[in-house]
Amino acid sequence: MVDVERCIECGKIIKDKSHSPYCKECDEKLDRQFDNIEDNILVYKELLDSEIETLNKFEKEDIEDLYKRVYKKYKSDGKLDDDGLRVLNKLKESFKLEEGKMGLPTIPVVKETREERLLKNNQCPKCEREIQKDFNLCPYCGYRLKKDFK
Ligand SMILES: [Zn+2]
Ligand SMILES: [Zn+2]
Repeated sequence: MVDVERCIECGKIIKDKSHSPYCKECDEKLDRQFDNIEDNILVYKELLDSEIETLNKFEKEDIEDLYKRVYKKYKSDGKLDDDGLRVLNKLKESFKLEEGKMGLPTIPVVKETREERLLKNNQCPKCEREIQKDFNLCPYCGYRLKKDFK
């Protein structure tokens, strides 16, 4: 039996054996996505659930390095405010990172915003009427419920 390695993203056979489970094209594509996500985090202090899914395709070490870079950048720019902490907390919880292991101080847990609390309760943050989880817009007042919905 021939031992072929296939890209776990697109299924193509990987010709040159590498450490990566992805083919060259997917590897490069993922790297670009990673860079975009990092930019979003640094500039907009936003980390969307869809971005978490993309980050899930990377090694934990990559995520730890990302966390370290973001933490240090926020700190040196004086941007380690609630929004910044929320992003870091989300990263930390999603990937079960431990600051101690990364050689960083523990960050405070930021309480969820009113908006986040209402959304969790399936309520529109604006009109507070009941909504369904998969709605992109509030059917009553048109409020944009999903940040990544354009
Ligand atoms: Zn591929
Ligand atoms: Zn509404």
